[in-house]
Amino acid sequence: MRRNLVVGNWKMHGDIHSNETLLNTLITGLSDYKSADYVVCVPNPYLHQTRSLLENTGIAWGGQNVNQFEEGAFTGAVSPHMLTDLGCTYVLLGHSERRVLFHETNLSAAARFDASIKANLTPILCVGETLAEHDAGLTEVIVASQMDAVMATLNDENFAKAMELNMVFAYEPVWAVGTGKTATPEQAQEVHQFIRQRIARRNAEAASKVRIIYGGSVKAQNAAKLFSMPDVDGGLVGGASLNAEEFIAICKAA
Ligand code: PGA
Repeated sequence: MRRNLVVGNWKMHGDIHSNETLLNTLITGLSDYKSADYVVCVPNPYLHQTRSLLENTGIAWGGQNVNQFEEGAFTGAVSPHMLTDLGCTYVLLGHSERRVLFHETNLSAAARFDASIKANLTPILCVGETLAEHDAGLTEVIVASQMDAVMATLNDENFAKAMELNMVFAYEPVWAVGTGKTATPEQAQEVHQFIRQRIARRNAEAASKVRIIYGGSVKAQNAAKLFSMPDVDGGLVGGASLNAEEFIAICKAA
């Protein structure tokens, strides 16, 4: 049995004051709910604040991206060790906004996936097709290329470690991210099943254990239906994770 996972992706939102209110409301609202795992991925400058509020609460925290190198002359970059140093256990990788706005590629996401594993960070790799790709019937081709880049980069030792760390995949159709347009539960299920089969090509046991979460306009009102699909193991929540009540309701749906 896979344990459901709900991840909030704050993106570039928040400030010290509003974060404190949001996090404290989550702590109270989720204190009696332990049936799934909950994570917030906050902007790097607030990781310290997040740690001081969330430590020992059962809610985990993570970064929204990471560099593939451990240290060096990489102005503006943050290493995997810096995230673990701040208590992060998760990191988002390959988010469509990173791919589109910051020109990240399948190969660079794979390199960061590998680096995260080596640093004991659980990677959450986002995959998904654009609207044009969706309309052209290319969903599986695109998702396969995004998945396969990671599978090809991990050697057997790092793949085993990725399993130990419980690596996560997030299916986020780009046309559903921040648009208010959600994939239907059936559409999500079809792609999640495809992703699981893709992992099974490398390792059947891993495929059955790996959590595949759905992202793209997840709201309190559509979460339960999405999460009830057999291969949907929770959600990656953007906009709705900034509203404490809404995010708590989504967490409870998991
Ligand atoms: P959204 O974003 O929930 O606002 O669509 C999801 C994401 O970008 O992870």
